[in-house]
Amino acid sequence: MTLSRRTLGGAALGFLCCRTAIAREASFSCDPLFDGTDLTALVDRATVSRFAGGTDNDYENSLIWVLVSLADYLGINFAFGFYTERTIPNAAYVDDNLDGLAPIKQNMPSDGTILFGRKLVKETQRVAHNFGAAMTALAAHEAGHALQKKYSLRPVFMHASFGSVRAELCADFVCGYCAAYRETIQSDYPSSIQAITQFRKGDKKFIPSGHGTSKERARAVDAGYLYGRNHPSDGKAAVLKAVEYTLALKL
Ligand SMILES: [Zn+2]
Repeated sequence: MTLSRRTLGGAALGFLCCRTAIAREASFSCDPLFDGTDLTALVDRATVSRFAGGTDNDYENSLIWVLVSLADYLGINFAFGFYTERTIPNAAYVDDNLDGLAPIKQNMPSDGTILFGRKLVKETQRVAHNFGAAMTALAAHEAGHALQKKYSLRPVFMHASFGSVRAELCADFVCGYCAAYRETIQSDYPSSIQAITQFRKGDKKFIPSGHGTSKERARAVDAGYLYGRNHPSDGKAAVLKAVEYTLALKL
């Protein structure tokens, strides 16, 4: 289902993950790389609402399951869709709901929209040793941004040095937190894939407006994982701990 374009002056106040800029958000300008065209819902509203029944597509079913479980575990709600990146493989989180993309829990307030780029999905399929775990890592990272928004934590990063990087590493911490959860319900879940996925998407060298280096990203996932093992089922506590962790980093 291809969705109609809408004015994204408000919607794009979130950010593209690989091009995140806290300063950009503070100035309320749109990310020029994300124009909201060519959006596609994962499934239609009816399919999401009858999640238990699922679709005929295993990939879609698996991804829906992951998204619903992340939302439940972290105590958030969000819409999800796909878009086509202008340049590099990417994912995005935006504050608002976009036309045609229904929140997972339709009777609850939404905490924004998570978007996967189609190039990112293809790249992940090609390189990941475990596609499902890699996609889970990417979704959990974006869910971390939704938590930042839900609990109004962005100003903390705006006032910190290299705030963009710290915000990204905070989301990676949440990514690790979710890996610990998955292990509790799937004993053979390959949590290391989540750290590897974020490592692979890390910057080759430190970029002040980037995502953090590969090592920084993998360490943040590990830290979140360790925290999650001892402090499960509390999305708010997780993101607050993630903030504490990232603000203490010497970048
Ligand atoms: Zn991000």
